[in-house]
Amino acid sequence: MAKQYDVVVIGGGPAGTAMASGLKSQGKSVLIVESDLWGGTCPNRGCDPKKILLSAVEAQHAASNLQAHGLSGVPTIDWPALMTTKHGYTDGINDGTLGGLQSQQIETLHGEAYFRADGQLTVDGTEVNGTDVVIATGQRPAILPITGHEYFQTSTDFLDLATMPKRVTFVGGGYVGFELATIARAAGAEVHLIHHNDRPLKAFDADLVDALMTNLRAQGITFDLNVELKQLTKTDAGLQLSDENGFNLTTDLVICSAGRLPNADHLGLENVGVSYNRHGIQVNDHLQTANAHIYAIGDVSDTPVPKLTPLAGYEARYLVGELAHTGAAISYPVTPTEVYAAPKLAEVGVTAAVAEKQPAKYKVQSLDMTKWFTYYRLQTPQALAKVVIDAQTGLLVGASCLSDIADEMINYLTILIQKQISLSELKQLVVAYPTPASDLQYLY
Ligand SMILES: Cc1cc2nc3c(=O)[nH]c(=O)nc-3n(C[C@H](O)[C@H](O)[C@H](O)COP(=O)(O)OP(=O)(O)OC[C@H]3O[C@@H](n4cnc5c(N)ncnc54)[C@H](O)[C@@H]3O)c2cc1C
Repeated sequence: MAKQYDVVVIGGGPAGTAMASGLKSQGKSVLIVESDLWGGTCPNRGCDPKKILLSAVEAQHAASNLQAHGLSGVPTIDWPALMTTKHGYTDGINDGTLGGLQSQQIETLHGEAYFRADGQLTVDGTEVNGTDVVIATGQRPAILPITGHEYFQTSTDFLDLATMPKRVTFVGGGYVGFELATIARAAGAEVHLIHHNDRPLKAFDADLVDALMTNLRAQGITFDLNVELKQLTKTDAGLQLSDENGFNLTTDLVICSAGRLPNADHLGLENVGVSYNRHGIQVNDHLQTANAHIYAIGDVSDTPVPKLTPLAGYEARYLVGELAHTGAAISYPVTPTEVYAAPKLAEVGVTAAVAEKQPAKYKVQSLDMTKWFTYYRLQTPQALAKVVIDAQTGLLVGASCLSDIADEMINYLTILIQKQISLSELKQLVVAYPTPASDLQYLY
């Protein structure tokens, strides 16, 4: 007889684990199912391992900026030692996450969940039933279906490389491609990044993307734009990439960084009337699918927000409340997005591109902060920002930053936007000087 739960959660990543914890604290009987590593993408093969590798890149970059300004000698990256540091964190994630769930008395099952019928699932042959089911199965790297696609590797492989090859090529200019290209270059590889049009990082401000690419070119990354790749061939000289217009490149490792696909196609959704497309499982503004007892959260859901860890947790917390029948539709806070390259690019709220089309509504201010004290001290080659201000209220509603500390600045700006803090209110606060926070009053 199949065991019955109030809720079965499919996927043990940030969305699924937050969901299971929240439901358990409401006294519900919960089963969480994971087919691979407990903890999911972010801590095992996403944000966290990437950021550990980036720590060495940041230190190297900071030292490089200060050459002839008080430092001499740029450190080189010891890739195997850096990987050992990464493993020192990631190797404990699976057991740590599982132990954390079990210590909350949440039932766990390892295996692939599949819908047999409404409320009825199998997990590698074991039958389980849930009154409600929450799908939190995330995404996986998309592989371009070109000839020779079997030679592509993915971000997961890159984040586990035992040695750094001499030549590394990334195909696809999204944030993952830019970040991993930055790491590979800093670790000494010859790096190419191929993109199918001339506008990589299309969600980010075009001027700041151009400035980022100029910085990365100066570090030795080659951008091959407007290349519609057709073929990947293995030769004695290495892996050969080509298009139909004479583009040819030989490299040692090709990482396909051309987006991610929802893990929705292997769940038996057709058995329970749930539909999905390449953006994810279709949900309403209560994160409910066409089947009233099935919900989808995190990366696998087709929602109008970027696919990021904090939003996976946010959706889980919302749905925990929703399953207790609060009834309100989900509304998302302003969310910063980021490219952890060197320098970093970050954006939040209304973009300058949108604002410039509505001059009566918004004012856009472009700032070159390179000579400001904060950046002079670090000898940052370039520090740029664009801020968007509501013309009526004077409140900050959007910002984009490019600098070595853009990741910290964007969080301050996010708080100012979300909490609608006016410039005069900001000036009532005393913050430590000289720090990035003490620059905020000069931004809007
Ligand atoms: C290289 C990389 C870098 C990233 N960097 C950042 C970053 O800097 N900041 C940020 O906010 N986000 C980042 N992300 C995105 C972040 O990792 C995701 O947004 C986050 O992990 C989504 O959480 P999730 O729980 O929805 O999905 P996931 O973390 O993907 O978890 C889903 C889980 O479901 C499991 N699963 C799938 N199918 C089944 C099934 N049938 N049965 C049982 N289990 C199943 C999977 O094995 C997986 O463990 C990055 C992603 C990548 C790939």
